[in-house]
Parts: sequence; C-alpha cells; structure tokens
Amino acid sequence: MFEKILIANRGEIALRVIRACREMGIRSVAVHSTADADAMHVRMADESVCIGPNSSAQSYLSVPAIISACEITGAQAIHPGYGFLSENANFVQALEDHGITFIGPTAEHIRIMGDKITAKETARNLGIPVVPGSDGGVPDTAAAKKIAKEIGYPVIIKATAGGGGRGMKVAQDEDGLEIAFRTARSEAKAAFGNDEVYIEKYLQRPRHIEIQVFGDGKGNAVHLGERDCSLQRRHQKVFEEAPGPVITAEQRAEIGGICANAVAKINYIGAGTIEFLFEDGEFYFIEMNTRLQVEHPVTEAIFGVDLVREQIRVAEGLPMSFTQDDLVVNGHAIEVRINAEKLPNFAPCPGRITQYHAPGGLGVRMDSALYDGYSIPPYYDSLIGKLIVHGRDRPEALARLRRALGELIVDGIDTTIPLFHALLQEPDIASGAYSIHWLEKWLAKEFG
Ligand code: ADP
Repeated sequence: MFEKILIANRGEIALRVIRACREMGIRSVAVHSTADADAMHVRMADESVCIGPNSSAQSYLSVPAIISACEITGAQAIHPGYGFLSENANFVQALEDHGITFIGPTAEHIRIMGDKITAKETARNLGIPVVPGSDGGVPDTAAAKKIAKEIGYPVIIKATAGGGGRGMKVAQDEDGLEIAFRTARSEAKAAFGNDEVYIEKYLQRPRHIEIQVFGDGKGNAVHLGERDCSLQRRHQKVFEEAPGPVITAEQRAEIGGICANAVAKINYIGAGTIEFLFEDGEFYFIEMNTRLQVEHPVTEAIFGVDLVREQIRVAEGLPMSFTQDDLVVNGHAIEVRINAEKLPNFAPCPGRITQYHAPGGLGVRMDSALYDGYSIPPYYDSLIGKLIVHGRDRPEALARLRRALGELIVDGIDTTIPLFHALLQEPDIASGAYSIHWLEKWLAKEFG
C-alpha cells in the first residue's frame, strides 16, 4: 500500500487526486512553481515542495526537480494528472530507474500510442476500426495524390507528431492537395520539429465519441462506455457528456467490447481513452490517450466509480474493484469547461478573483482550485474549473446545468460562463443534434 503519493500537476486536477488520496488514507505531496506558492493544491496537500520558477518548462515539466521532490519527501508513487508529463515515456522510464511507481501505463504503451502512425497501426491490428487513409507517412505530393484518389476527397493531412489539434490541413480536391500537403509539412516541422505527415479521409459531419477503458495490467480490462465531446472550438473540447446522445446500448456494448479486448490483449494498466470519429453508425479510430482525461467526471457520474482511486489501486498491484457486469449506465452527465477567457475571441484572461461561489445541490459537482482573492497566474492553461451535473436523463441534466450555472459566481475576470448560458438556449443543444463542426459555425454566426 502506498503511504505517500506526489502529484506532478496543479489546479483542479491536482485537487482531484489529493481528494482521492485522502479518502484512501494516503498522504499527498504537492509540487509547485514559485507562481503557484499560494495555489489551492499547495494548501490542500499534506506537504508541498517548490520545484522551480514560473515557467512550466522549469517546474511542472522538470523531470529532475520532480524526482528530487519525491526523494526529499519519500513519496513512493507519482500521479501525473493530465497534460504536463502525463504522456511522457522518458519521464516514466526515469521513474522506473529511480524505483518510483508511475500511476499510469508503462513507458512502452505511452510510446506506442504517442506516435500517431504506430498508434493507428496498433489499433488496426487489435481489431479497432480506423479512418481510411495512408499506411504510415506520405513522402511527397505524388504519393499523396495517389492515396487521396483511392480513398476519395475531401482528405485531411495530419502531422505524425501532432497534438492539440495543430498541424492539420483539409484538401477538397486534387488542386487543393498540393498546397495543403506543403503547408501541413512546414507547419508540422515548425510546431513539432518533425515534418512527417499522413493522410486520412476527411469526415464531413462526424461526432467525437471516445471510449473510456481501464486495465489491471494483468490481461483484464473493462470499458466504461462513451463520452460525446463533439462540441469543440479549434479542436479543443468545451462541453462533454455521457452517455452520447446518439449512441445506442448495442453500439456501446459492441465498440466498448472491442476496445476493452484490445487493451486487455496488450496488458494495459490504468485509465485510457480511445478516441473515435462517429459518422453514419460507424466508428473510426483517431487516437488513444494513455492517461486520465479532463472530462473523466462525466463517466464517474454515470457509473458511480472513482477513476483516480482505481488508478491508484491497480498501480499498487490490486485488482480492479469492478467487473464489466457491475458497470451499468445510470442517468446522464454533462461537463462544461470554465476557462479564464474573454469572449468572443477566447483571449486568455488571468487576474485576481474578487469573488468565487461554487454551485451546489443534488447532482452538482464543481472541480476547481479557485478561491476568493486567488490570482490566476498567466503562465499556465486557462482551464479554471469544471462544472459537472448528473441527472436521471438528459433533459434533467440540462435543466440542472442551467440552474447550477446560474449559481456559479466567478468575479474579477472574464470567463466562458456566458458561452454556456447562450448554448443552453439553442434547440440543437437541447436535442443533441450537433457534429464536431457545430460550435465553430455557431460562434461565427453569433460573433462574426
Ligand atoms: P490532436 O491529437 O491534435 O487532438 P486528433 O487526431 O485527435 O488530433 O484530432 C483532433 C480533432 O480533429 C478531432 O476531434 C476532429 O475534430 C478533427 N479530425 C481529426 N481527424 C479527422 C478526420 N479524419 N476527419 C474529420 N475531422 C478530423
């Protein structure tokens, strides 16, 4: 049993992990940059260590600083949260070398899934349906044209090393392909230092559906259904729900079963998410995230499980505390991401919080590290809170979301709260009739 866990993260996700530790009777160690000396995760943890200056490169991303913090405090394991070092295979390797347990998958699994071409290849070999496209990298425009002709236009050119929605270009026809191919390559080179790109069929109005999987590292794995994260701005999720409004129980069982079997076959350990685009009843794999996702609370709500507790259990070598048969969908949950951003351009808006009031009541969960008088530093991600609601069905969850948003007060800065008030007026949101392009189109119409 771990006695002490270090959380290599900040903000709401650090709090999320500290809470699970406390319920399990495990001591928690927070790490922080100088800018975060007054942050809530530092106050809430049992111990804290300053690991470096403001810049995340020298603090939250500094492997030596984090390993030293473990050694100073005697923490036996590290929970990485999401972002930062959570999908860094070299970090996981370094922890192994120091005898510190990483609460997450092996370096090897992170490596396989971190490279998009290898991930797609692995997924295909494990029986997961993938988007039609090139087998691996595409060397030149001639090869690109040949593949595009085979799979049919429009096509999307994506960076092998891509992430965060960057390095993608769509070509509608052969004329557009040449320029799209060249721009994608040079953008990939600039953003990721690697100009390899690959080609996929561009789906015109898909939904983003992702399957939550969980493995014990010993060949057992389950799925916890899907989340629909189609409401995106610049390929970034802003509103997530579970179950997906258009996914049937049969579809869930089928794709969920395929995903659970796939991760069981590779002895996957811990939480993972297999992301798909979904169109006309078909699932198309795009990538796998080998970590806890920002939107994991909607899954926790409908299945009544604590995914962080479960991650800690399997990292200790314990079996999972549930079987597939225990996992029955109960009601509907929605999460909205509250960012410190000013509409309509979503410009980051750090600053001092003059007043904060979190909503409460039945079926409401607010995951946030805010407090009255807190100053949001300008150096990190703009996510400042997640409001999660749970109801017996989707209409009840939507009504609860509207009610809870009305109670939420974040004064002193601009946030994305008004966006959600506006979205809840939309008939398409009420009916669930949206694809991955819906939000961008709506924003263009509303704000021009
Ligand atoms: P990243 O790792 O940069 O987030 P993904 O491969 O996960 O890249 O894709 C991010 C988003 O880009 C998807 O959620 C979807 O909105 C869009 N996208 C990716 N591939 C396709 C495709 N083949 N057709 C249509 N849209 C796509």
